[in-house]
Amino acid sequence: MLKVLTIAGSDSGGGAGIQADLKVFATLEAYGMSVVTAVTAQNTRGVWGYEAVAAPLVERQLEAVLEDIGAQAAKTGMLAESNIIKAVVKGLRRHSVPIVVVDPVLVAKGGARLLAAEAEETLKSELFPLATVITPNIPEAEALLGAKIETLPQMAEAARRLKDFGPQAVIIKGGHLSGPPTDIIFDGQRIDEIPGERVTGAVGHGTGCTFSAALTVYLAKGLPLLEAAKKAKEFVTLALKAAPRVGHGISPTDPLI
Ligand code: PLP
Repeated sequence: MLKVLTIAGSDSGGGAGIQADLKVFATLEAYGMSVVTAVTAQNTRGVWGYEAVAAPLVERQLEAVLEDIGAQAAKTGMLAESNIIKAVVKGLRRHSVPIVVVDPVLVAKGGARLLAAEAEETLKSELFPLATVITPNIPEAEALLGAKIETLPQMAEAARRLKDFGPQAVIIKGGHLSGPPTDIIFDGQRIDEIPGERVTGAVGHGTGCTFSAALTVYLAKGLPLLEAAKKAKEFVTLALKAAPRVGHGISPTDPLI
């Protein structure tokens, strides 16, 4: 059985974070494990608050699962603080997890910061070099680069600049631009565009988590990056179309189970 790990924050509302990742892993028939980095109090209306888990306990969770169960692939989501990023980097390096998907979660949809501003540098300099692929959306790419992104050529340029921080590949998700959501993927050699379908009427959070969790499983299954990214995007589209209404939004991760 494929064993995959999520290193992320808990979303009490079940729409994003650890909960979304574990639902995606189960849907795609992988054995899921979790290292909790923060506990958020959250629902479909927004984030009410959170507390980060102390870095030594994050390190201990990672050590516990990797020394015993092991993982073919891991993904990171909300990491909250700089010393948590350092603990994660230490654990992933020590156990040489072969596939690491880094979703650089910075700010929740409602505007709450999920990573301390000063930790962005640590993310870029310490975690990005370990990544098989990083998966920012447009606001995240803009924040990481300090540049505005409004067109596909600007997305491609941003992907090239983000690659310089050391990940093996970069996927920038285009959902925040108007029109059909096209993602850009750069593996250091070529830029590819992955066209997508806009699902109208679906308002919710957790789509980024769902994408990176599905990508993690497809990569663990051995698919090449471009194919894995296309399948992960299809997974999110299907999930959004079938998403049930919960609270004041939708949950894109529940319908397929
Ligand atoms: N991780 C956690 C714990 C969150 O609470 C959120 C958003 O609220 C995210 C990640 C990011 O979610 P999205 O998939 O909408 O980018």
